[in-house]
Amino acid sequence: MRRLILAAVLIAAAPVDGSAQGGWDDPFPAHQVMDNLYFVGTGGLGTFLVTTPEGHILINTDFERTIPLIEESVAALGFDLDDVKIILGSHAHGDHQAADVFLRERTGAQVMIMQEDVAGWQRMNRGDNIPIERILHDGDEVTLGGTTLVAHRTPGHTRGCTSWGVELEEGGETYNALIVCSFGVNANYVLVDNPNYPDIADDYRATFAKARAMPVDVFVASHGSFYDLPAKHEKLLHRMQGDPNPFVDHAGFLAYIDFQEGRFQAMLDSQRRSGR
Ligand SMILES: [Zn+2]
Repeated sequence: MRRLILAAVLIAAAPVDGSAQGGWDDPFPAHQVMDNLYFVGTGGLGTFLVTTPEGHILINTDFERTIPLIEESVAALGFDLDDVKIILGSHAHGDHQAADVFLRERTGAQVMIMQEDVAGWQRMNRGDNIPIERILHDGDEVTLGGTTLVAHRTPGHTRGCTSWGVELEEGGETYNALIVCSFGVNANYVLVDNPNYPDIADDYRATFAKARAMPVDVFVASHGSFYDLPAKHEKLLHRMQGDPNPFVDHAGFLAYIDFQEGRFQAMLDSQRRSGR
């Protein structure tokens, strides 16, 4: 409906910063991914707005210092951050969900967290007793204003790592979008005999297998680098009527899984060799 026209307007309205880099605190042009899914993050942080007639869903608040950049991006798209009704996230790490309570206090939005990430999220958001409006489980649906997001638990990176699925429409076709949590292994992760997370290696393996079987058309993630955002955004800027949507990239999604599984296996092998 309004999609292609809106995309053209956004190019003009977005806060384009010629010096924008891939850093966490660098601005990045706000843009429509597809349908009612918009990118409102930074050069390094993937934050997404799902707009509906009954208010919006924000996925990943990042740090408190990121909120002004997110707010600018939301405004550049013609929306209002104060209309956010639901706050969701990828996983309980500071670069994705440290500002959840901060934004909830401002907007009155509900916060929903995957059960297995509750403890980590509370530690990061001012303490053990901080309330959560809804605890999520694998496969749970979150619906607002006619849009439904599905919480796919993809553990490993954290226990409650959540990849968000949503059906989008463009040009009369329906596409499955996935906002990927992270399938990456951080350099300090212990994959062998980890007393704090004994099942970590099994969780990663299950997540790689689960992800590979998912019908993902539109691939975006909690860090733009995971899905080659700068190159895809460049394509979006030069997209002509009839060109494919650059964010439709099942092959890129599979390549991301392969890459992360290769890193996981290499780290696992090396930790086993060194007798951890
Ligand atoms: Zn993380």
